[in-house]
Amino acid sequence: MVVTHCHLDHTRDLEALVDLNYRFNENNNARPGADAFRELRFFLSPAAHSKYAEYLKHTRCCSQPELMYGGKDKKQVSFHIEVRPVRGFHKDITSEDEAIGLVLTLKKDGGEPLLVGLTSDSRSDPSLAEQFAGCHVLIAHLGTIETAKELLGNGLKNHLGLKGCFDLGQKVQPKLLIIGEFGEELLESRLEIIRVMVEYKAENTACILGADSNLAIGLGGGLSVLCCHPSCKQLPTKILLKDVMPTIGEDGLFRYYCSKHSI
Ligand SMILES: [Zn+2]
Ligand SMILES: [Zn+2]
Repeated sequence: MVVTHCHLDHTRDLEALVDLNYRFNENNNARPGADAFRELRFFLSPAAHSKYAEYLKHTRCCSQPELMYGGKDKKQVSFHIEVRPVRGFHKDITSEDEAIGLVLTLKKDGGEPLLVGLTSDSRSDPSLAEQFAGCHVLIAHLGTIETAKELLGNGLKNHLGLKGCFDLGQKVQPKLLIIGEFGEELLESRLEIIRVMVEYKAENTACILGADSNLAIGLGGGLSVLCCHPSCKQLPTKILLKDVMPTIGEDGLFRYYCSKHSI
């Protein structure tokens, strides 16, 4: 678990996770120290560390919460997964520019590792392109759309905005660019925002998509998107990036359907 900074939309599930893990151990009759007792591993940005480290230890959910500074402290999660914190540029309640983004290195037994980047919340900064260089998948947080004045000036103060996402996409040129964190006010214009970005996408970028709870990416055997139709959920059908056609459902969320389920 990684907490990148301390805005509510990035932290409010933490207590639910702690509660869930507590119930898991209770149901298994697992006491602290027993083999079956499950702890979670937490990587925390400085602001998140000052807020949650004691809570995580006290609840026995995580006896050693780990501090993460952007640009330092690369962590080995397992033999195949490594996580590197990226320095973000974002102000939350207790910190300024100590937020972190992430690059996950997913190693296969043979061949090149797959790099997945997540900006989390950050304003635009020239260092971001370098920090995310080489990412095959990049998830960039939009925040909201700039006003004309902001577009002509330095952009948004605390988020990438459309220009920031566009610039980063052009420089990093990931195979798959995913735009995340659309502001509430953009519910109806999300598909249009993605359409405009696709029109001007970088040469090496095969696909640009919007992130929400219906988006699942297949990472094995070349990148793909998994069909989100309920009857495809048990045994997900892969949709090749070139064939992905997002639509918007009545709830305002994106839909990704395989050829069997697209109308
Ligand atoms: Zn934030
Ligand atoms: Zn399907």
